[in-house]
Amino acid sequence: MKKIKNLIVGCGLSGLVLAERIASQLKENVLIIDRRSHIGGNVFDYKDIKTGITIHKYGPHVFHTDMKHVWDYLSNFTQWHFFHLETQVVIEGIKTALPFNLNTLRDVFCPSLAERLEQKLIETYGFGTKIPILKLKENGDNDLRFLAEYIYNNVFAGYTGKQWGLRPEEIDPEVTARVPVYISRDNGYFQDKYQGIPLKGYTGMCKKMLDNPLIELKLNTDFADIKNEIFPERLIFSGAIDEFFEYKYGELPYRSLRFDIRTENIEYYQKTAVTNYPNNYDFTRICEHKHFLNEKSNKTVISVEYPQPFEIGKNERCYPINNPQTQKLYQQYQKEARKLKNVYFIGRLGDYKYYNMDICINRALEFFKTIKGENK
Ligand code: UDP
Repeated sequence: MKKIKNLIVGCGLSGLVLAERIASQLKENVLIIDRRSHIGGNVFDYKDIKTGITIHKYGPHVFHTDMKHVWDYLSNFTQWHFFHLETQVVIEGIKTALPFNLNTLRDVFCPSLAERLEQKLIETYGFGTKIPILKLKENGDNDLRFLAEYIYNNVFAGYTGKQWGLRPEEIDPEVTARVPVYISRDNGYFQDKYQGIPLKGYTGMCKKMLDNPLIELKLNTDFADIKNEIFPERLIFSGAIDEFFEYKYGELPYRSLRFDIRTENIEYYQKTAVTNYPNNYDFTRICEHKHFLNEKSNKTVISVEYPQPFEIGKNERCYPINNPQTQKLYQQYQKEARKLKNVYFIGRLGDYKYYNMDICINRALEFFKTIKGENK
């Protein structure tokens, strides 16, 4: 039996922020563990030896935030490659901009129809606004209803079917609202003030966060294997909350992904980093990694994303499936969690929430404030 000050389970963004803050601000020792063989959780990237291209192992990660303090915080550990993601989507054989915007409208419809729909959209919602597809579908105007049906069928129905195994109405409306119809000519996937990719990759940034003699890192280490040997004064758990409680109320479901990572003997595979295929194939999107850091090679590396259900021990948890039943189940676990003293749950898996990277970091920074308060 070994007593320690802080144990952090999970070396993804949440765990890393807390390890870094506790070590640098409270000057306390931290042991951070991860069952995987690498740091960074699902933001982990690595250099492909043959091409020198940085690969986002778990799919495209583009950092974007409107929170200056989050951007500034990460800027302590990395310089940035300024990068604005433009995603393409294949609609009826045409490669065009996503989110569906006024440029997309012109690409897929004849000029007179595009003009009429554009006018109606601007009159109804105003230029520069974002309308979730399920909201647009509620519009009673014939033209706008036609447009909503078109976008629903060509952008959302097929993709959501593959990604979640469900129809868009059957998933949390906030999920499809992440990619709203945008009444604008801006082809950017995000409009946040701060956008970029860590210049030395996410793994480089994460390494810097751990660069403190008070932090000890143990990879290939499962919490279940050490929990009876190590007694922390404070346990921060960023793994799956249902697993922590040995699934006593049942499993919280997730969607997972399989990545088919391929080297192609051509300089570029596609125009932008990400292309979505809502209606073709069994995969959802193809990511071409060299775009992220504008890396040069006469070859290229792509990853093809196949969604699949999460299965314990077989693949990784990627997306929590938020609906009334899973929320009820999560709340049962949350109630158990509240009974524990000095044990805290954070992150996508600990909170069972579809966090973006910036939200995850902000949540960890806010949580650190509560720890700091307790230490006073
Ligand atoms: N979505 C869609 N078609 C697309 C892109 C997204 O139907 O071409 C829907 C789908 O349900 C997806 C959600 O919007 O799960 C959120 O997409 P986002 O690109 O934000 O997903 P992430 O990058 O987090 O996987």
